[in-house]
Amino acid sequence: MKFVTIMNVPFLHTTQEDFVTLLEKRVDEKQKTFVITANPEIVMRANEDPELMNYVKQATYICADGIGVVKAASMLGTPLPERVTGYDTMVRLLEDGDKKRYKIFLLGAQKETIEKTVENIHATYPGIDIVGYHDGFFDWDNNDIAEKAAALKPDLIFVALGVPRQERWITQNMDKFDHGVFIGVGGSFDVIAG
Ligand code: UDP
Repeated sequence: MKFVTIMNVPFLHTTQEDFVTLLEKRVDEKQKTFVITANPEIVMRANEDPELMNYVKQATYICADGIGVVKAASMLGTPLPERVTGYDTMVRLLEDGDKKRYKIFLLGAQKETIEKTVENIHATYPGIDIVGYHDGFFDWDNNDIAEKAAALKPDLIFVALGVPRQERWITQNMDKFDHGVFIGVGGSFDVIAG
């Protein structure tokens, strides 16, 4: 696997389609995976914020979420094939997961938004098994969201809490799960909810 490092952030050299194929292979092989989709703002922030850089170091894959990263890679003489966004990755995983009957868990956004997101995924991808979901406004020091989610053994865990909260949640809770692809997807639930 090839990586392109931009300001200390190692991006996976991949296309959107190859990335989806790779993640599905990781799901099928039950290999725990932590994905960060990083735009230029996140690259800048990671260089100023040790907490975020620590998450970057723990990620299995970091993909170029935005044309700004792709342009920076070209300017540095180490081009990346194309942008690979959190939203597009999520939608492609839902499309294929519909056929493969993936189990998913969703965490994040306002209560009405996550409920609408669940409704829309059910309607559009009936083959997907939404094993559980929770809104993104919970007491961080007193909840059992991860324990409950882990017991449901989801294949895909989409976390939409914004950066760096979503990466914090994933790194704090991944150990509780025996498998799963964890991906921080920012404002994607807001888009899917419509
Ligand atoms: N969000 C959340 N919990 C929080 C803060 C934000 O679930 O404590 C959700 C918010 O409702 C939105 C998503 O995280 O659906 C992305 O938030 P934001 O736009 O602030 O993050 P960014 O896209 O800038 O990373």
